[in-house]
Amino acid sequence: MAESGESKENQAGRHQEVGHKSLLQSDALYQYILETSVYPREPEAMKELRELTANHPWNIMTTSADEGQFLNMLLKLINAKNTMEIGVYTGYSLLATALAIPDDGKILAMDINKENYELGLPIIKKAGVAHKIDFREGPALPVLDQMIEDGKFHGTYDFIFVDADKDNYLNYHKRLIELVKVGGVIGYDNTLWNGSVVAPPDAPMRKYVRYYRDFVLELNKALAVDPRIEICMLPVGDGITVCRRIS
Ligand code: SAM
Ligand code: CA
Repeated sequence: MAESGESKENQAGRHQEVGHKSLLQSDALYQYILETSVYPREPEAMKELRELTANHPWNIMTTSADEGQFLNMLLKLINAKNTMEIGVYTGYSLLATALAIPDDGKILAMDINKENYELGLPIIKKAGVAHKIDFREGPALPVLDQMIEDGKFHGTYDFIFVDADKDNYLNYHKRLIELVKVGGVIGYDNTLWNGSVVAPPDAPMRKYVRYYRDFVLELNKALAVDPRIEICMLPVGDGITVCRRIS
């Protein structure tokens, strides 16, 4: 998408807005999506959480409003009820999930940082959906290992959203493929990793982008040839790969 048609105002605004997390090359087009179809329909609680998160120093980590809307829609389309989220931060994608699933739906939510979750929690409570969330503080991998060992969680999840330590995504996949049901969905977030997946190895990159890039490339290769899933890689947010378990 050519940038030439953009106003100066839009170009200047590019990184000022926390919701700006799109691989679209045209800021004007991204803004159009947000203003036409996302913000006018964004639930009040999600707006409040987005605005709270915008003031947090690590706001770069949040899920964008358009991706939140996508997740909410996807969960409803697949009638998800039993769900899991790895990587919560202040809870924007968690709230999108909690609002989409039925009143007796469940989210097992894991993050090594509880403080950030607790920042968003009052808004989640006010929205009347906190009872659906089982938050576990700590690294996700041992929890998954325990669930695999228990044996009773195999094939029980309708939807799993993975948005945490990218160097563990393949380790998560090994376990999650057992835990998601056949016909269920795993969403791996940030699979286009800032567009760096197509950058030449010597291209200038921020340190953390360079560090995780190889892991994301490995994951993408592995998902592409995994016969147990069907996949669809979408350029929403920073790229999300939607995987449907087929065997
Ligand atoms: N989904 C969140 C949202 O919508 O705002 C954003 C998640 S943020 C990109 C990544 C999160 O993963 C951070 O909050 C971080 O603390 C968490 N994290 C990092 N390593 C983790 C691990 N091993 N297990 C669980 N969570 C982890
Ligand atoms: Ca993400």
